[in-house]
Amino acid sequence: MSIHFVDDFVETHRETYQRLSDNVWQFAELGYEEIDSSRAHIEQLKRAGFTLREGVAGIPTAFVAEAGEGGPIIGILGEFDALSGLSQQSQAVCCQPSTEITNGNGHGCGHHLLGTSAHLAAVAVKDYLRQHGLPGTVRFYGCPAEEGGYGKTYMARAGLFDDLDAALTWHPGVVNGVMNIEALACKTVYFRFTGVSAHAGASPHLGRSALDAVELTNVGSNYLREHMLSDARLHYAITNAGGVAPNVVQANAEVMYMIRAANNQDVSELYERVCAIAQGAAMMTGCTLEIALHSACSNIVLNTVLNELMHEKLTVLGVPKYDDSELGFAAAIHDTVSRQEVAMSNKMLQAAWRDPKPLYDIVEPLDSKKALRMHGSTDVGDVSWVTPTAQCMTACFAFGSSPHSWQWVSQGKSKIAHKGMLYAAKAIAASALELFANPALLAAAKAEHAERLQGSPYVCPIPEGVNPPLPAVAAA
Ligand SMILES: [Zn+2]
Repeated sequence: MSIHFVDDFVETHRETYQRLSDNVWQFAELGYEEIDSSRAHIEQLKRAGFTLREGVAGIPTAFVAEAGEGGPIIGILGEFDALSGLSQQSQAVCCQPSTEITNGNGHGCGHHLLGTSAHLAAVAVKDYLRQHGLPGTVRFYGCPAEEGGYGKTYMARAGLFDDLDAALTWHPGVVNGVMNIEALACKTVYFRFTGVSAHAGASPHLGRSALDAVELTNVGSNYLREHMLSDARLHYAITNAGGVAPNVVQANAEVMYMIRAANNQDVSELYERVCAIAQGAAMMTGCTLEIALHSACSNIVLNTVLNELMHEKLTVLGVPKYDDSELGFAAAIHDTVSRQEVAMSNKMLQAAWRDPKPLYDIVEPLDSKKALRMHGSTDVGDVSWVTPTAQCMTACFAFGSSPHSWQWVSQGKSKIAHKGMLYAAKAIAASALELFANPALLAAAKAEHAERLQGSPYVCPIPEGVNPPLPAVAAA
């Protein structure tokens, strides 16, 4: 019953939400700067009858929208942040900056679709509960800054997910299926060195180079790679090289590290080792060091009960159909990607897609016993520690095209992307409604969650006292 309602509801409202998604694509706002994007969501949610809590967890662009009454409480997670440097003309089949987007950013991870689809699913659930006089509460979480700012971790620390019975979300991608994927836990940290400036030629012995300290930190960390767990990752960016004058000893320099590993414990241990290297670099160069934790996220706690539920809904709903012009566009994009990128898409699958076509047009079979390892990170991990959580993925982009690429930005407003977005909204809403209707299923999901945690409750990887890294404009 509810699945037909969801199908009809989403199709009836598709234009409104396609427009919302396209608007967020065009705002292309970076993490914690999503002022217009969050505003567009909030206004639409208010029109749909939701009660809003805005600026939650001390983040101006974070919000919680709620509708319904009593339990259970199901959360649906949405994002809307873009990436820098990825401005791209919509639906071009070559890399060229957009004339519509003027801030240089681009939605290279499809979060404009992610937030809109989750939002639409929440509205469909709300209307079904109301029309049928059913108890239960649905919440839409507006979660900023997934890309490295990890807004959900700060929201989890603030306790915003504590009373949920389950959470559902999705991510746009190149395949249709449940994300039975273990992502890495991550910490991001700034190492800020302070030395002494001096004339590099006349009095070098008086100088203490902060840039040297940054370089020695990186050299030390690169030696560390040989002695890390194989799933761990280290990345860095020099965020302040100390100036542009080689004849001045650089008194200030800063490097940002991203430290990833399979779980929070492994990340913490690696983090301590990298911090020790930075301290050693400070000692070697006679500089002082400030260590400033920027953000962090936890690994994913999978939930087979919820994964199987979402898989069933994706299968029953059936994948979108494409016309010749959509297939032609996907083929043109597919032609721009390398064999290696196609191989990467195949790695997202539990069984390789032997005959890759430009568009993935099946639901991937789910093997619950075989979770895949992804060497990225997501703050959905923190939600998954607090409450049973599942994610699906739908094909919004040509097979082989990669996240954080111009190709994903180009395809972000295409009919293919819209179809994937609507398909995900239906799968999320149908799954949520099943959880409202079937208390035994929800109880099973919660029992599995408790079993997976083995009595170790969620400990937020960001300690109290570390504030969200808001840009000056958003903090004002
Ligand atoms: Zn993403």
